[in-house]
Amino acid sequence: MTTVQTLPPMLIADHPALDFLNSVGAPFGEEIEWLATGECLLDWLAASGLMAQDQADKCRKNFARTDLDTVARQAIALREWFRTFLIRQSEFNEWSLDDDDFNRINGFLGKAVHVFRLHPASPGDDERKNRPELSGSFAFDSPEDLLALLALNIAEFVSVARLNDTRNCAGETCTMWFVDLTKNKKRRWCDMKICGNRAKAAAFRERQVKT
Ligand SMILES: [Zn+2]
Repeated sequence: MTTVQTLPPMLIADHPALDFLNSVGAPFGEEIEWLATGECLLDWLAASGLMAQDQADKCRKNFARTDLDTVARQAIALREWFRTFLIRQSEFNEWSLDDDDFNRINGFLGKAVHVFRLHPASPGDDERKNRPELSGSFAFDSPEDLLALLALNIAEFVSVARLNDTRNCAGETCTMWFVDLTKNKKRRWCDMKICGNRAKAAAFRERQVKT
């Protein structure tokens, strides 16, 4: 049975695109869907740092609830496409996108309106030595811009991450993905406190049975 999110999102992936993939999962047994409604999607985007809280609040105020719910369903469809895409990619040694993959991602990016601004350096930020700051984001004039934001993170991920470092948690039934940024490339678990300890306990039980 799937429950609507009541826990903070699992942000263990070391990249927001994979955190997005982990917005459904069963870390504690019962499956949790963090994107079940438009409200949930906005909460997840703000909690994951992909959107500023004030941007999320603006969307909540300006967009109809039914439109946001539709976008949440489309976000789930994008997420599940991305999951299938990654599983397909894991058969290769390096990224191997086909035209459909590029078209799918660019389709979302092409519809969105972007806003870029150059700001004066923040007062007191001595490190920047008065260098102006450039910021860019989507305009969020329409709920579909939320999908563009998610697609941008997928695009950014495939353009910077190494496929070999992208993997599924070693937990037997765990669906969580992460990018392994450790020096020795030996990360195995979504979270040591969840799947790592579970595996340790299972290994301990097995040893007890044998002795
Ligand atoms: Zn896991």
